[in-house]
Amino acid sequence: MEHIKSIAVYCGSKVGNSPQYVIAARELGLAMAERGIGLVFGGGRIGIMGEIADHVLTSGGTVTGVIPHFLNDLEVAHQGVTELITVESMHERKHIMFTKSDAFVILPGGLGTLDECMEIITWKQLQVHDRPIVILDVDGYWKSLKVLFDDIVKGGFAHPKALDLFTIVDSVDGVFDAIADAPEPDPIVLESHL
Ligand code: AMP
Repeated sequence: MEHIKSIAVYCGSKVGNSPQYVIAARELGLAMAERGIGLVFGGGRIGIMGEIADHVLTSGGTVTGVIPHFLNDLEVAHQGVTELITVESMHERKHIMFTKSDAFVILPGGLGTLDECMEIITWKQLQVHDRPIVILDVDGYWKSLKVLFDDIVKGGFAHPKALDLFTIVDSVDGVFDAIADAPEPDPIVLESHL
């Protein structure tokens, strides 16, 4: 874990319908600050995004937000972060978040969160990176995603070891254990069709 200095957290720009989502975001923010791990996130002050950023900051941690100009109004850039990077495009945002992070955690969120989750998993499948990816399944929020992953393997469109590219946990403590124990990606997930 010593090499994990920063984590990108992908999460919703809304708070969702269960109070558990916000609670988990706050707990994760506190736990990261306590461990001296910086937060990299999408830069907004709304939704789960804002909650985790606030809790890292009030717990004494550092926060880097990366927000495109055109989302400044929609997602309302968080002005209290340690570093706010304003970029031109979503691609640039995702690239900077990627380069600044040693691991990736997915909290409950909407379509944007799902997009970021799938992108970071597929980049690992393509051997663009080998960093830990952890999905925090708060209150069963990601249960349909688990079924979908299994169906993709059953349908023959991913190698079973593709499921080792990420870890699904149901508690904040589990996030850090999963990061510490993340298996090395098996090249077969990329090469099994060759
Ligand atoms: P959401 O989960 O839809 O609330 O979005 C969470 C974050 O993901 C927001 O900061 C979005 O701007 C961002 N996001 C990243 N990629 C996308 C995408 N392709 N479509 C929509 N939002 C995205």
